[in-house]
Amino acid sequence: MIIMANNLIKIAYLYEDLMNTYGDSGDVKIISYLLKREGYDTQVDNISLGDEFDAFDYDFVFFGGGQDFEQTVVAKDLPRHKETLDKYINSGQPMLCICGGYQLMGTYYKTNSGVTIKGLDILPLHTVFKADKRMIGDTRYRTEWGEVQAFENHSGQTYFDDTNKLHPFGEMIEGYGNNPQDGVEGLRYRNFIGSYSHGPLLKNTNVANAIVKMIIERHDARTNQVESVEN
Ligand code: GLN
Repeated sequence: MIIMANNLIKIAYLYEDLMNTYGDSGDVKIISYLLKREGYDTQVDNISLGDEFDAFDYDFVFFGGGQDFEQTVVAKDLPRHKETLDKYINSGQPMLCICGGYQLMGTYYKTNSGVTIKGLDILPLHTVFKADKRMIGDTRYRTEWGEVQAFENHSGQTYFDDTNKLHPFGEMIEGYGNNPQDGVEGLRYRNFIGSYSHGPLLKNTNVANAIVKMIIERHDARTNQVESVEN
């Protein structure tokens, strides 16, 4: 593990060159901006096809949305990172996944062309195309950090397979979120957030500030631990 300087916060952006629909890179820019305002330096690394990656080198991992074709390409490279991401998420480190990235953390995504894209199977959820509708338009929903306004555009409908373990990120006021039936948006599991919101999502500063707080708390706890081992 690389030991970080105290005020350097490292962000991993998974497949930035392939998974960045509808301005999702704005989420990373907003996080970096808010962290700088709190006095931290930030470094954003684009982890793309074939790159080495240890999630524990980072304070925050981001995975954006993508079209079905890009998801197919990414899904082939992604299994190399299953173990590190599984440990990272299950030990409560902060991660945000949007739309296509969120889908790939589940077991599978069956697309409208009948192709089944295998996900990482870290979170018990699956996504399927159903001919009834493409979920596109403005969304509004309630979260534990207040109301969120965003934009969604996806054909995959996401369902939780273990509702004891997984809880939604929000309750819909307008739009579809995970699917047309459940009336809920995204996923909150430990410090993992999955969401269908583009726009970008973190233009909602209530959510951005909550994630920044999470990142700083984890970062400071980790660097203090490293210092006390060294002393
Ligand atoms: N391709 C996926 C779908 O249509 C995800 C789309 C996205 O990331 N915007 O469901």
